[in-house]
Amino acid sequence: MAGSAPRRIVIVLEYGHAANCANSTKSVAIAGQIIAESKPASFAKCVTRLRDRLRRPPTIPTTSSLKASCPAPDSELDHRMSRKNRVPLADRVAKAAGTVLADRHFVSTIDVLIGIGWLDSGAVESWRRGQIDCLEEVVRTNLPRISEAMRLFRSWAVARGLLASQTSYVGRTPRRQTLRFSRSGNAAIEASYRTHWVSPELSEKKRERLAEKASHAPELVVVLPLNAEWTCHRCGGTGDLLMMETPGPACLRCVGLDDLAYLPAGDSLLTRRAKAKSTRHAIVVRFSRTRRRYERQGLLVEPQALADARLARPSAS
Ligand SMILES: [Zn+2]
Repeated sequence: MAGSAPRRIVIVLEYGHAANCANSTKSVAIAGQIIAESKPASFAKCVTRLRDRLRRPPTIPTTSSLKASCPAPDSELDHRMSRKNRVPLADRVAKAAGTVLADRHFVSTIDVLIGIGWLDSGAVESWRRGQIDCLEEVVRTNLPRISEAMRLFRSWAVARGLLASQTSYVGRTPRRQTLRFSRSGNAAIEASYRTHWVSPELSEKKRERLAEKASHAPELVVVLPLNAEWTCHRCGGTGDLLMMETPGPACLRCVGLDDLAYLPAGDSLLTRRAKAKSTRHAIVVRFSRTRRRYERQGLLVEPQALADARLARPSAS
């Protein structure tokens, strides 16, 4: 049908009616497909052929033929996306717990809550520093949902033969208080949060070491401020070092660490010895503007421990 002469398109506006283009060669097209072409003299004949063509089953793509040829129409995509959002909680818990277990050989409720996106690690840090009363305050869902996730996590762990290990969670504050998880403070719920589920594939010795490490009280952190003009929220005083508390910075006298001596980093042997001899110690950090993170500057230790460590050195080396 396609001729070498230049084509003019006649657009079919509705059934049986064609808009005419009076010029040398004419063609008739439906949806861009040429179905008839003709000289002006035989245009009437062309229209007749067009009518015949329209009486036959249409060649214009229909909604159903479009659906069949299109790999992922919108409705299908929407369906898949909503299915993804509706992944059962049990699957989300299992996936989060499995990932952490594979990586670390133990998994806790906190890991699962972070893994399913209900808790962020920054909030956990604030809670560890005693800036949040109980962890459930910062979990982004309601209590029944949290309980459901914890129940699913426990069943998942038991089904895999993981071993329950009670872990103590102690605040990163001089008070070293036991951290609270639940709003209710219920002993059974607290115990459930404190349970770490450990891989039975680890040797007993490794499991013990892991439990000891997990229960170890976190280091106290003291900040060497970049801005010297700061005020203690408790006494209104100031100082060279501060400790961050919920309402703001506190001086070392107010937090009960002002009797400690500063040992700058650099001598690792002396640091190790002084730390071992001191019953209390705190890490001193300073914020690096270029690296955008806190960096360790040294250690605060008991002055006697530092003196003893210095004395012990010559005989050791
Ligand atoms: Zn103070």
